[in-house]
Amino acid sequence: MKLASCPDCGNACSLTAISCPRCGRIMQPSDLSEANLVKPTDYSKLINVLVYALAVISGLVIFLATYGISSFILKSTELVSIIGVFGSRIILILSILMSFFVAGMLFGFLRDKQGWKLGLFLASTVVILSVEEFLKFVFGGSSVVEQVVNLILFAFPPLAGGCLGAYFGARLKRNRSANNNIV
Ligand SMILES: [Zn+2]
Repeated sequence: MKLASCPDCGNACSLTAISCPRCGRIMQPSDLSEANLVKPTDYSKLINVLVYALAVISGLVIFLATYGISSFILKSTELVSIIGVFGSRIILILSILMSFFVAGMLFGFLRDKQGWKLGLFLASTVVILSVEEFLKFVFGGSSVVEQVVNLILFAFPPLAGGCLGAYFGARLKRNRSANNNIV
C-alpha cells in the first residue's frame, strides 16, 4: 500500500485518508499526492557492503583451501615426481583459477548488478598478500624478476578467475531473467 506523509506531523497516512489519524488535519487533495509519498527504507547499500565483505573473506578461505588441498594431493600422490615442479605449479595455478571462477560465478549470479567487480573483492586478500610478499623480497635483495613472476603467478589466477566468473554469473542471471520475462 502506498503511503504519504502528513504535512503537519509527518505521520504516514493512506492516500485515501480524509484526515490524519495522529494530528487530525483535514487532508487537502494536494496533501496526499505522489510527491509526498513515504519511501520504503533502502537496505540495498547495506546489503552491498555485506556482500563485498563476504566476498573478501570467502576469497581468502577459498585460496587457502584450494592451495592446501592441491598441494596435499600433489605431495601424497607423488604426482610431483611425475610431472615435476613446473607441472605441479601449473596444476596449482589452474586449480586456483578454477575455484575462483566457480566462486565468482556464484557471487555474480547472486548479485548480478555488481557483476565482474565482485571478482576484485574475491581476489583482494590474495593480491594484497602477494604484493606484500613481493615488497619483502624486493627490499630483501632477492631476484626482482623472479618475484615479479611470482607476483603475477599468485595474484593473476584469483583476479582473472574471480572477475571472469562473476561476469559470466551475472550474465547467466540476466539471460535467465530476460527469458523469464518473455515467457
Ligand atoms: Zn498529521
